[in-house]
Amino acid sequence: MPIKVLSDDLASRIAAGEVVERPASVVKELIENSIDAASTRIVVELAEGGAKSITVTDNGHGIPAVELPFAFERFATSKIDENSDLIAIGTLGFRGEALPSIASVSRVTAVSRSETSDAGARLVIDFGEKHSPEKTGAPVGTRIQVDGLFQNVPARLKFMGAPGREVSRVQSMLGSLALVYPNISFTLISDSRERLKTSGTGKLEDAVRAVYGSKIADQMLPLEPEEQSAFSVDGLISSPSINRSNRNYITLAVNGRTIQSRRLTYAVEQAYHGFLPERRFPIAVVRIQTPLSDVDANVHPAKSEVRFLREDLVHALVQRSIRGLLNVSAPVHELGSGRTSGVGLLRPVGGAMSGTGEVTRFVTTPGSVSTWPTPQDSIQRGMEHEDKPATQSDNGPEPSAVGGTPRETLPVLRVVGQARETYIVCEGPEGIYLVDQHAAHERVTYDRLQDAFSNQSTESQALLEPAVVDLAPGMLCIVQEHLEDLDKVGWDAETFGANSIVIRSVPGALSSRASSDGAGQVFINVLDELVQGGTGQSWVDRMLATVACHSSVRAGQILPIEDAKSLLRQLEKTTHPNTCPHGRPTLIQLSINDLEREFKRR
Ligand code: ADP
Ligand code: MG
Repeated sequence: MPIKVLSDDLASRIAAGEVVERPASVVKELIENSIDAASTRIVVELAEGGAKSITVTDNGHGIPAVELPFAFERFATSKIDENSDLIAIGTLGFRGEALPSIASVSRVTAVSRSETSDAGARLVIDFGEKHSPEKTGAPVGTRIQVDGLFQNVPARLKFMGAPGREVSRVQSMLGSLALVYPNISFTLISDSRERLKTSGTGKLEDAVRAVYGSKIADQMLPLEPEEQSAFSVDGLISSPSINRSNRNYITLAVNGRTIQSRRLTYAVEQAYHGFLPERRFPIAVVRIQTPLSDVDANVHPAKSEVRFLREDLVHALVQRSIRGLLNVSAPVHELGSGRTSGVGLLRPVGGAMSGTGEVTRFVTTPGSVSTWPTPQDSIQRGMEHEDKPATQSDNGPEPSAVGGTPRETLPVLRVVGQARETYIVCEGPEGIYLVDQHAAHERVTYDRLQDAFSNQSTESQALLEPAVVDLAPGMLCIVQEHLEDLDKVGWDAETFGANSIVIRSVPGALSSRASSDGAGQVFINVLDELVQGGTGQSWVDRMLATVACHSSVRAGQILPIEDAKSLLRQLEKTTHPNTCPHGRPTLIQLSINDLEREFKRR
């Protein structure tokens, strides 16, 4: 075939493939137009998952009748012109592709009335073929109805999921937009049933309540922007008491645009390191503001990816603000909150640290609902007990000695004894506490290792007999890459033959395991950490956690009371005394209220 310029119609259908993939992408484009038109109310209606029809109605500024046909021309847009900077774009749309693309693969009926005219206009485009516009009565705003999507593209039709799937895609996309625009009321109706409705009050918490429900909304922590600066982050993030098994509950937005970003999602995950168990993920709405000229949204036709001029800065900002908030808010784990069913002696409230991750709220008698301690509670704890310096004051967090970041506080505990050779039983200000001796010791050792690592003062213990570890294929090069870090922690390891490694010294903390068998085993675990990744921070942190785990007192080991006391004193000094480096709680609490109630003392 000779070279020809494609007809506009064919070019539109090709472009449509990029912009409109499925009903959810049509809805996204239409809603973005409504948002750009300054709407405060947007209603989305679907019939048969959008396959039969999609209707988006808004109360925005509308399109003047004379311009309505232009809206469906390719590359026709009111949002940029020849003089615009293609980087600094403040609207969600700018490519002028969505409407013509949609209209080339469906029958579109557009009705719009602009603020300045007293009548509306109606335009029908039948699979790319434009009818003439008509005058019609209509409220100010725009209503776009899309019927028979992809009826002329059989290949696309095949890729469309069952109506239920498409509805849930739309719902999740609409949910994210609703979280980013709490000032807009969004409604989703599917086959005449209301699926989602946000109030548009402008409060993010109300939007979270509408999208995720009250249980989650009640456990979200507010992320305040650090200060008035060109780059800022705000939003709501889940307290470590609740978590999810996937990343779908992390919503990211940059300058009002919801984005997909692996790196930023990872920054959020990293901030939770040590607060959540492995492979559990937070719920978060993170809204990033940057100067417009710092983000390029013109990377992908669907505009869901952006490029940052200073990605590292944004990454660090997100991580620092979330981490800072978690540091001051992490509560002591209350007994029962790890449970997922309400059977048992005590029924406090909280989220699961493991299991389904669902928050379960159990109410015994009216008014008996205990809640997670708030940051305020832990502040009070610090102040009530003068013998222990408070690390936080009423005026907000004060930097502690460690790393300049605010610290969690541990209640003042008096050791009563040891139970099941695993738990240290203590009495404290708000009840009885059980400390998991292994988890607590792990936290202490981990912090010490981390300190030593950053000061380059780790100790090393030579093995009486070097240990030879055979490695799985491919592992040797991974080890070689990390030899320097391994050395910094105290491992003296060297390659030995084609697929083995010989270990001559181990980190000092492991001296009790300084037999070559034990050392080899820990080394293999460390390598597993290296390969697996996970929600961990850097691999160094994960390695330190593994070493800490193997150096710490085990469950089932008798701990003399003096040792238990000393362990608690050391735990108090750590940065996160309430969780072990893997995110498990180090202590749980049986509150006095619960005890008195259960014993029918009141
Ligand atoms: P883009 O959003 O990239 O400009 P679209 O094809 O999505 O391109 O829309 C084309 C134009 O139609 C927009 O620039 C805007 O002027 C107008 N438009 C589309 N939808 C609406 C709406 N809901 N309210 C007001 N104007 C709209
Ligand atoms: Mg658009």
